[in-house]
Amino acid sequence: MPTTVKAYAATSATEPQKPFEIQRRDVGPKDVAIDIKFAGICHSDIHTARSEWGPANYPVVVGHEIAGVVTEVGSEVTKYAVGDRVGVGCMVDSCGECVNCEAGEEQFCLKGMIGTYNSVGKDGEPTQGGYSQAIVVTEGFVCRIPDGLELDVAAPLLCAGITTYSPLRHWGAGPGKKVAVIGLGGLGHMAVKIAHAMGAEVTVLSQSLKKQEDGLRLGADHYHATSDEDTFSALRGQFDLIVNTVSAQLDFDKYMSLLAVRGALVNVGLPEDPISLRMFSVVGGSKNFAGSNIGGIRETQEMLDFCAEHGIGAEVEVIPAEKINEAYERVVASDVRYRFVIDTATL
Ligand SMILES: [Zn+2]
Ligand SMILES: [Zn+2]
Repeated sequence: MPTTVKAYAATSATEPQKPFEIQRRDVGPKDVAIDIKFAGICHSDIHTARSEWGPANYPVVVGHEIAGVVTEVGSEVTKYAVGDRVGVGCMVDSCGECVNCEAGEEQFCLKGMIGTYNSVGKDGEPTQGGYSQAIVVTEGFVCRIPDGLELDVAAPLLCAGITTYSPLRHWGAGPGKKVAVIGLGGLGHMAVKIAHAMGAEVTVLSQSLKKQEDGLRLGADHYHATSDEDTFSALRGQFDLIVNTVSAQLDFDKYMSLLAVRGALVNVGLPEDPISLRMFSVVGGSKNFAGSNIGGIRETQEMLDFCAEHGIGAEVEVIPAEKINEAYERVVASDVRYRFVIDTATL
């Protein structure tokens, strides 16, 4: 029998989210049932709940930064046991057979990965996410949360953590490398912490100096306001890597000018409209203008282990479910330091 669990759902693009009940499937042979303890609020949740990225399939329960405890495992599950602390991120399944799945990059599954919410599972049912008290996921898409990490600060690692860890790892952040992070929000604050832990020299590029104290406390070595034109002349040609975490239109030519020869500006934010970039900014200095999309399951586990080893969690504000709608307004207004996390016991 499917299990009924409490959740919070968006029922239209314009109405506030409200208490709702959803069904979770029976635990199949390869499934893990998870009692969700905390769910982070990612800006993608808001875009989906409000149909800003195309029409959502209502009612939709969003949330893809999930941390909890295993309550039941299927007969063929080998990786997990009841009581294990685990997390689930942006995807819950994929074909498992294509070249990208084989390579452990399930996010690029050629048949399309199955999103944690607003997607359709292999059972033909809509997937529903983490703003709920339990979830059933095939074991291959479950990650272990090491003992050193508290579940509330671990939850945001499943999206914000891997989204920033993957490009930092791929582009070689580490000792002797100068890394800049554009924007100090939910993604940016994780990028600063992780890049610092990797041993890079970290600079925050933020609109103003309002969060400078936080930035330095989180591990940045330098902090500059991009509203100050002197920033761009002072930092010209300096960085091996720039991770852009903002989803706004930027003067990308100006940011490219901050890169050293063969440096990379990697985007994890998604502005709604096409951007403008002069090819001179890329070709001159043989630079890279790149993007990065979450990470595979194997890399997500590597990131969780790395964060536990270095004592890195997200900076969180834990809220009860009744504050979800208010929290959305605050995320949109950039009024959060630095991630809201829902205590799912309050659903
Ligand atoms: Zn997310
Ligand atoms: Zn695949």
